[in-house]
Parts: sequence; structure tokens; C-alpha cells
Amino acid sequence: MRGRNGPYYIRGNTKRCTGPLCEGKYVDLRRFWFFKNGRRKGKPFSRCMDCENFRKFGDTNHGWIEFSKVKFVFDELVSRLGKMETCRRIGVSPNYFQDVRKTEELE
Ligand SMILES: [Zn+2]
Repeated sequence: MRGRNGPYYIRGNTKRCTGPLCEGKYVDLRRFWFFKNGRRKGKPFSRCMDCENFRKFGDTNHGWIEFSKVKFVFDELVSRLGKMETCRRIGVSPNYFQDVRKTEELE
């Protein structure tokens, strides 16, 4: 930490998050991931977990609202084919399907 004008915007136990959800708000440091390797080892990410997740899922999916609109199709397929077969035919891994479910439950 290099004072209040330091590069990581740490203030007490909070850190400024530059992610799309926080837009510069100060977030509890425990909500951040820390680099495990490399030049920034031990330093927090510039974005909190929520914003990192938002970015990660945003890259592979164009909105959860769209998914919920077609969710009945998934449910129908799963009830007819089973989860493994549905994943195989759609071309996603069962883990991916699992992630979608988990994220839904969090919201
Ligand atoms: Zn954030």
C-alpha cells in the first residue's frame, strides 16, 4: 500500500472496484480475489468477485433474462432425455449446465 493515491485504491478494509457492477464503489477486501502468482502476487484484483463473475459469464452468455425465457426448453429436454444426454446434444458440458443452475439460484 502506497498511501491513498496508491495504485490499488485500498482504503482501510475496503478497496475501490472498477468493475461494471460497482463503478468505482468501495467494496470489502474479502469480496476480492487475490493474485496467486506472478508480478501482482498477493495483490487484489482490480474488480471484486461479483464483477469478475459478471465479466466471465458476460463473455459466454448474452444475458440471464434470455436464458430464463428459454429455460422451459432445457427443462423439457432434461425431462425427456436426461441431463447428460441434453448436455451432449446441445454441446455443453454437464458442469456448464450446473454453473447456470447455481448462478440462477444466487439471484
Ligand atoms: Zn465490483
